Amino acid sequence: MSQPAALKPIAVNFHLWPKCNLKCTFCYATFPNARNTISTAASMKILDDLQAAGTEKITFVGGEPTLHPGLPELVVHAAKLGMTTCIVTNGAKLPAVLDAAGSAVHWVGLSVDSARESVQAQLGRGHGDHVRRSLALAEDIRRRGIRLKLNSVVTALNWQEDLSRLVRQIRPERWKAFEVLSIEGENADRVQPLRITTAQFQAFVSRHAHLAAEGLGLIAEDNDAMTNSYVMIDPQGRFFSNADGSYTTSEPIAEVGVANALAQVGWQRDKFVARGGLYNWRQGAKPSSRPFIVAIEGLDGTGKSTTVGLLAKRLSARVIRNPPEELAHERAAADKLPAAQRREWYLGANRRAVELARQSKGSYVVLDRSAASTFAFGRAELGEVATEADWPADFPRPDLTVLLDLPEPQRRARHAGRGDGATTEEQRLARDHAFRDRVLAGYRALCDLSVDAEQSPNGVVASVCREIAHRERSRREVGDNEDAGRSPGRRPRIVPRSTYQEAV
Ligand code: SF4
Repeated sequence: MSQPAALKPIAVNFHLWPKCNLKCTFCYATFPNARNTISTAASMKILDDLQAAGTEKITFVGGEPTLHPGLPELVVHAAKLGMTTCIVTNGAKLPAVLDAAGSAVHWVGLSVDSARESVQAQLGRGHGDHVRRSLALAEDIRRRGIRLKLNSVVTALNWQEDLSRLVRQIRPERWKAFEVLSIEGENADRVQPLRITTAQFQAFVSRHAHLAAEGLGLIAEDNDAMTNSYVMIDPQGRFFSNADGSYTTSEPIAEVGVANALAQVGWQRDKFVARGGLYNWRQGAKPSSRPFIVAIEGLDGTGKSTTVGLLAKRLSARVIRNPPEELAHERAAADKLPAAQRREWYLGANRRAVELARQSKGSYVVLDRSAASTFAFGRAELGEVATEADWPADFPRPDLTVLLDLPEPQRRARHAGRGDGATTEEQRLARDHAFRDRVLAGYRALCDLSVDAEQSPNGVVASVCREIAHRERSRREVGDNEDAGRSPGRRPRIVPRSTYQEAV
């Protein structure tokens, strides 16, 4: 019989293992009375029962769930049942679990509260290397194509901290901050010095509000939001809830069934929805395990180098110049070639730059220029304007190509201020306005995003990061393919590459 919506446990946290390798002072999931835990087989049966009751997402938590010897088996079983799976972990044995469970792991939630190792150690989360380990794990999780969350507990030790840089480095799809919570029988006797006021929690939330513009918005849960809004199962196979500052447990699910057990603990679905518990967690196409490639385009003087540098720092990204370093020694000779051969050399270099970017480790690569420049200038030299049709179907393309747009007087002023002389190209841009207009029109046709470069460098980078977050979501939803970078919604008309070669 189907469950009424109010009792359908659509998303469940399964605290299947009470032990942990760490001793966080604020921890309220130690389960001191859990003398024994249910077996892996019994946990599997609970997963079967949950699936029958309508559970769509299962989050394995602890203690530290990666210490549970049966975790990989349970994750694989849940995935086979059609559930979206998640492991919330301090990272203890995460790589081994991910190796064993493979593609059955859809999400990982990493727990990091501070960017300072000393604060993490003071909180009991790790031994002075938790931040460094977590950053490396985040990289590994992304490389495996697993979706990433970040959980932070806000306490007296970190409520005044600005975690923006850390969050930008980790770049989770979801970042949740929890107001430190006191639970009688768990942490109430030791957590008092870490408690904060509602105003302090709100100050922490407000300090990070700006990250929403970069797709890294904070999901904040104060003590009220956390109360009775989670469907939780303890290590003995019982639902439990946290009303009135202590835990209430149901009878064992295996004995009374999901619906009856859940009804005993007072889960409130409206609070679950209100805290943002319902979101698009469904695993669509597997996200790409290769880096996201963003190219920065624009005429000299628009701030490309500054943007590339800042963006790379913001994303912890590798920078690849165009043409790439390995071809730099050929460039002077290439620039002396007839137009058609010169452009052909540049196209080869552009292709190589994207290949190098795709082979890179890490989550992001920033390209300083792309084939868009080659196409835009190539067509302009012919008295034409480049269009999407110039970009051949088999020619690799960045995931996002950004044009820095700056009014000509400002651009000329900035360029002149650099004092590095005018190239032949720059001289023509200055004297031949029609040529410059054609180049710019070509850029606008070929770039995915035009950013106002009159704003501050940080404003430019924030605009780019916002678009990256949007495109990463699209890439996950529609899936990735090797012809990466076709802009969502853009369907360029393709002409054979030879047409372009003949044209130039
Ligand atoms: S890592 Fe998690 S489970 Fe372990 S002590 Fe800390 S809060 Fe508790």
